[in-house]
Amino acid sequence: MKQICVVGVGYVGLVTAACFADLGNRVVALDVDENRVENLKKGIMPIYEPGLEELVKRNVKGGRLNFTTSYAEAMKGVEYVFIAVGTPSGVDGNADLQYVQSAATSIAQNMTMPLIIINKSTVPIGTGDWVADVVTAAQPKPVPFSVVSCPEFLREGSAIEDFMRPDRIVIGAKTQRAVDVMREMYAPLEAAGVPFVISNVESAEMIKYASNGFLATKISFINEVAELCERVGADVAVVARGMGLDHRIGPKFLQPGPGFGGSCFPKDTLAVAQIAEEHGMRFELFDAVLSVNERIKRRMIPKIEAALGGLAGRTVALLGLAFKGDTDDMRESPTIPIVHGLIERGARVRAFDPAAAQQARPLLPDAVVYCGDAYQAAQGADALVIATEWNQFRALELDRLAKLLTRPLIVDLRNLYEPARVAASGFRYVSVGRPEAGA
Ligand code: NAD
Repeated sequence: MKQICVVGVGYVGLVTAACFADLGNRVVALDVDENRVENLKKGIMPIYEPGLEELVKRNVKGGRLNFTTSYAEAMKGVEYVFIAVGTPSGVDGNADLQYVQSAATSIAQNMTMPLIIINKSTVPIGTGDWVADVVTAAQPKPVPFSVVSCPEFLREGSAIEDFMRPDRIVIGAKTQRAVDVMREMYAPLEAAGVPFVISNVESAEMIKYASNGFLATKISFINEVAELCERVGADVAVVARGMGLDHRIGPKFLQPGPGFGGSCFPKDTLAVAQIAEEHGMRFELFDAVLSVNERIKRRMIPKIEAALGGLAGRTVALLGLAFKGDTDDMRESPTIPIVHGLIERGARVRAFDPAAAQQARPLLPDAVVYCGDAYQAAQGADALVIATEWNQFRALELDRLAKLLTRPLIVDLRNLYEPARVAASGFRYVSVGRPEAGA
């Protein structure tokens, strides 16, 4: 059993804290957001993540997990601190490190014994040394510490499974002792066969950025292939399958859609491009990946417009607002520009998302009508647009929808359905990178 502190209880921090507690450690999770911590103490989760509430409650009840806003309280007897605060894009596209700096400063001011400071936040290469400088400068008296990079690769929507069964664990450290301690902390996962990559801090930081940049590249790539498929009469689903069976390519991340969003791919790709520029290099590929993504998001508006034969005065039932299924995260969601574009062109939007409506409200025009389910959204609408791949949207009652919509039209920006099946239910079906089906 180890005494661990996790700083920042957002998507990464809360999952990290709950999972380490579940592995038998004593974990105190700290956040500066008092409301968040108060709610967590009452068992109210700040985010939607499948299985998280149960995991948190089980470990709180077992006395292995608790929450605080006090660094002094959190740091008592702790030898390992994870930093899991946000690193959003700053004005220049660089990762904004103000939250990391403030966390590192508070840790330094409250540490009482030798410490391993583990950075889980996604940070620019060189941040490990910078955090060490921040801590050294803020310590009231010198206490030994070591900074480790252990980037997180979990995906929202399957975060617990991803934490417990990751493809790999990356540890970037300066000393063998720090490597040994990290291996010990992750021993149950190593015993389950998870491979470890041990490197210096800089390489670990680079692995995270390069991985996210590559995944974003794959998405922009297939999105452009899909666009070309539409123009030449090919079917991107068949093309992606034909490509993905090649082991050098692989089938994952070859699903086209309305562009990538979320808190990681856009900001991390932009950050690598910025880091490259600061080092006298233009990362041309990532510049292209980002501009393609912007174009793909915007392309969805004329696509819906063309399907409807104009947007002015039309009502669109929009299914899904979050940037992906199984999360309430609206950060950089492609639905934001899509909804704004639809309304600017005179459409009315009736939206339904199983979890993200509350997060969406401040980001979308006031005119959006929020509905309780897909069928309420479809009531009197001229088209059904599927924007997020929530599983419940894969099994819609098409006959029921046909009666609620003014015309049988589905625009599926996530390719959730087999076109022939939807057409057989009497719908006209427009999807991404595949030939249109139905009347
Ligand atoms: P988040 O915004 O959900 O949570 C960050 C939390 O940190 C907030 O609750 C905030 O109040 C708290 N915080 C800010 N400053 C603090 C301070 N000084 N002391 C204590 N708490 C503080 O962020 P997130 O999505 O969990 O991302 C965290 C990091 O992990 C980012 O660097 C991100 O790029 C990376 N990451 C995110 C994901 C993901 O899917 N969300 C996946 C892998 C890596």
